[in-house]
This record gives sequence, structure tokens and C-alpha cells, in this order.
Amino acid sequence: MKVLITGGSGFIGANLSERLLGDGHEVFCMDNFYSSNKSNVEDLLSNQNFKLIEHDILNDLPEDVHAMDFDQIYHLACPASPPRYQKDHVYTLRVNFDGTLNMLNFAKDVAARSGKSPRFLFTSTSEVYGDPLEHPQSEEYRGNVNPNGIRSCYDEGKRVAESLVMNFYHAYGLDVKIVRIFNTYGPKMDADDGRVVSNFIIQALNGEDLTIYGDGKQTRSFQYIDDLLNGIISYMELDEDFPGPMNIGTPDEFTILDLAEKVLAVTGLGADLKFCSLPGDDPLQRCPNTALAKQKLGWEAKVPLDEGLKKTIDYFRSQVERQGK
Ligand code: UDP
Repeated sequence: MKVLITGGSGFIGANLSERLLGDGHEVFCMDNFYSSNKSNVEDLLSNQNFKLIEHDILNDLPEDVHAMDFDQIYHLACPASPPRYQKDHVYTLRVNFDGTLNMLNFAKDVAARSGKSPRFLFTSTSEVYGDPLEHPQSEEYRGNVNPNGIRSCYDEGKRVAESLVMNFYHAYGLDVKIVRIFNTYGPKMDADDGRVVSNFIIQALNGEDLTIYGDGKQTRSFQYIDDLLNGIISYMELDEDFPGPMNIGTPDEFTILDLAEKVLAVTGLGADLKFCSLPGDDPLQRCPNTALAKQKLGWEAKVPLDEGLKKTIDYFRSQVERQGK
């Protein structure tokens, strides 16, 4: 298959590129490196089935790319961690609206000239549920989002992008799938993007205090990257005409304090906790209902937190050693 991945050198995109190459696909990885690191895909550059395209999806596609007929498009591009998506709120909104519109129009052009719609999978987010009043969150829940808060560029951005994708499905019969990704962690996470898992691991490895925002009793459910990839690839491969949305995440819910304890236990290191103020609109609880993914794909997350943390910690340790050399 000929596959285009926007945001292909980010944490999820780079892992997805590697997996799809291993499965024998031809992978075109598009990124402008706004919030990702080229080094994530450097090892893939020697693979003849891998092409890196430096491009900002707000602009017209390069002509040679526009002329290609892709079988599958994974549309991931968007700054995703709170510090990164809040660096330029308007840019984040534009990536979600204008960027998604550009990619959908491209898919529509491919469908018109080839007679077959590429399958277009859009990665939305659990953030569309905001600070949820329903727990756990199922796909029918419409969310509790502050439309003008500091997270709104991302959560409202993803909501309007979902609307665009769904309207291209209804208006033009585009073959689309919308997946809502819950907190995910693993190797190739960006050490500097401020996410809780990477922050805690790096702080522990550097002998620093772990920064707990608020009282640390807010919850998240952390899924390991391999589980996420299994989920989104099997959804992409689902031939049923089912645009979603579909939650992909683990129902195992932990407080941030639980996570700090686990990171220290798995690293075998000690650290003090440093309590800091809770950022505005930070959701107090988050946990997916994954019955739909189980029913449609036979999928559920399998990797326990301890096991995934161990692999992630090994990755960050090797990065620290590499930098030390
Ligand atoms: N968090 C924390 N310490 C950190 C970074 C994050 O306590 O150093 C908290 C954050 O306030 C949030 C949770 O951990 O409640 C998850 O944050 P993350 O940025 O990883 O993801 P998101 O908020 O998008 O779920």
C-alpha cells in the first residue's frame, strides 16, 4: 500500500512509520518539524520504501506529491502536548481547520481522478470531551469544553476538524475514519514537550523533583504506543463503512500521584514531589469506554503500565547515554 502520514515524524507518526515499513508498505512521511524531531525518523531514511517530505500542511501540497494516488492517509499533523499547542494558539487552530481542509481536499482530488477514495484516518483526541461530566467517556458523550479557555485551540480545533472530516464523508462520500486517542506514551516521545510521563521519567533520571500539577489526584489512563498502533492500524484496515468516531485508549485509570509512584518504582530511583499550580481547564478525570473498539475491531489495550514504563524508561536512558557520549 502507498501510505501518507501527516505529522509523520512526531512521537506517534514516527512509530507508525516504522511499523508500516516493517509491514511492507511504502510510507510517505510529511512533517514541518514544528513540534517534532527529525531524529525520530533518521533511522528510516535508508529504507527505500520511506520518503520524507518537509511540508507545512497549511500550504499547497508540492506538485509531485499532489500527483500521487495514495491508498491510505493517516492525518496526524498537529502540535499535541499542552505547552506545544499553546505556543501559538492561532497556528494550532489553523492546523486543525485549514490543514485538515487541505488534506481532505487532496483526498477528494485523488478520489476524483483515480475513481477510488483513499482511506482517510483522522486522529482526534480525548480532549474533545473536555473536563468530562460523564465517566468513563463513550463516543456518544458530547463533552464539556470551554470554547475560549487556554486549551480551546486544541480541543475546539480537534472538534471542528472532526466536523470537517464527517462533512466530507457525507457530502463527497470520502472513505473516512475518526479515532479519538487517549493519553499515549512510549519510545520516541519528545523529552521537552512537557507531558507528564516524559517529564516524570526525565526528572527521575536527572535526580530532580517530580513536578505534580495541582494535588495530583486528577486521573488519566495511559496506553502504550504499541497498543495504540494496533488499534489505529486495525481501524484503518476495517473495510466496513464506519466513520466513527472511535475511542482508542486503555480503561486502566491512574491518578498523577499513582503515576509518579510507578515511575519511581520502575526506575528504582528516589525523588521528592514538587507541587505546582494546576494549569487552567486541566481535566480532572479521563478514562475511555472502549466497548466500541472491542466490538468493531476485537481490539483492546494489552500492555500493563509497569511494562510500558519499563520500555519507555529504557529508551530515555539510552537517549541520555547517547547525549553523554
Ligand atoms: N502533569 C503533572 N506534571 C507534569 C506534567 C503534567 O502533574 O510535569 C499533569 C497535567 O496537569 C495533567 C496530567 O498530568 O493533569 C496529564 O498531562 P499531559 O500534559 O501529559 O496530558 P493531557 O493534559 O493532555 O492529558
